[in-house]
Amino acid sequence: MIGDGTRCVHGGHGGGAPGTPLHPGPVLSSTFQLGLPSDPTPTDFYGRADNPTWRGLESAIGSLDGGDCTVFASGMAAIAAVLRIGARAGALLLPSDGYYLARALAADELVPLGVEVREAPSAAPLPPLDGVALVLLETPSNPGLEVADIAAAAEAAHEAGALLAVDNTTATPLGQRPLELGADLVVASDTKALAGHGDVVLGHVTARDPELVERLRAARSRGGAVPGPMEAWLAHRGLATLDLRLERQASNAAALVPVLRAHPAVTDVRWPGDPDDPAHAVAARQMRRWNGVLRFTLASETAVGEFLAASRLVGSATSFGGPRSTADRRHRWGDAVAPGLLRLSVGCEDPEDLVTDVSRALDAITR
Ligand code: PLP
Repeated sequence: MIGDGTRCVHGGHGGGAPGTPLHPGPVLSSTFQLGLPSDPTPTDFYGRADNPTWRGLESAIGSLDGGDCTVFASGMAAIAAVLRIGARAGALLLPSDGYYLARALAADELVPLGVEVREAPSAAPLPPLDGVALVLLETPSNPGLEVADIAAAAEAAHEAGALLAVDNTTATPLGQRPLELGADLVVASDTKALAGHGDVVLGHVTARDPELVERLRAARSRGGAVPGPMEAWLAHRGLATLDLRLERQASNAAALVPVLRAHPAVTDVRWPGDPDDPAHAVAARQMRRWNGVLRFTLASETAVGEFLAASRLVGSATSFGGPRSTADRRHRWGDAVAPGLLRLSVGCEDPEDLVTDVSRALDAITR
């Protein structure tokens, strides 16, 4: 049995002949030697169809997810491929409180083509699924950090003849393995913790059913949402330290939660790793470890401004999962949340520094 840290470090790296690089660089060629017309077409012939650097990353992520991985140019490209697979067969059920662009994609690109799209909240049991061909869950959800019961959803989806896809972005493959819990597809934005350094936009979908995998590969090539080899290489390099980064981010989050809960300027702290969190029981059943994404609410947009201005370590930025702590006021993006709700992406700083900084910044809020 190989552990997660070992898989992160070794996944997708072959042995190699003497004299070949231990750390090969990205294969940047868009076109490859074909040989003679009578030779069989090689796996690598054109950079939109396949690429050796993608395959290294896919092998590493696939081994963590427990399936066959297809990398895409972004998390949204991965979600788009998954939704198109579902839309061919029936209605789509999306989380009403998940990442807003998945809903926007369905509403603005698929509904006008005649696709039926329904929505349901992440934390509730699934509604009746008559006519639904694909259910997308996002757990823990962004930005609410609500948790959906993957095994129960898989059972309900399969009973109705639907596929279950799980957006695993916040958990990462180390935090949760949706395929083992019964999901058919796991989709993620690797822009976040997986690549982990805030310098790459990338996504992936992993499945076990060879027919689904084949459809995803074809969808990628035809749709053209292919990652650059440099991005795939950077993500693979970042993945090597995912285990270490998650450990620090989760322990930092655990150190911050009581500070946030105890502070009079803060309400509504949510982090599934907190035993007092309403979602903890379900999360503990299906998640393998925690991460550094949490949320809390301040009184107003002004209070958020005061907090961010006073903090020296928490940057004001969207996205999450990077080495530096950042906070994002989700109301600015149109999420149906309080104006003072902040999603905090807890970074890899020293815990004492972070706790001191966040406490000071909270104290600076005028009340
Ligand atoms: N899924 C979730 C949960 C996200 O948070 C995001 C981006 O924030 C996406 C998907 C989209 O990923 P990307 O930005 O890589 O396209």
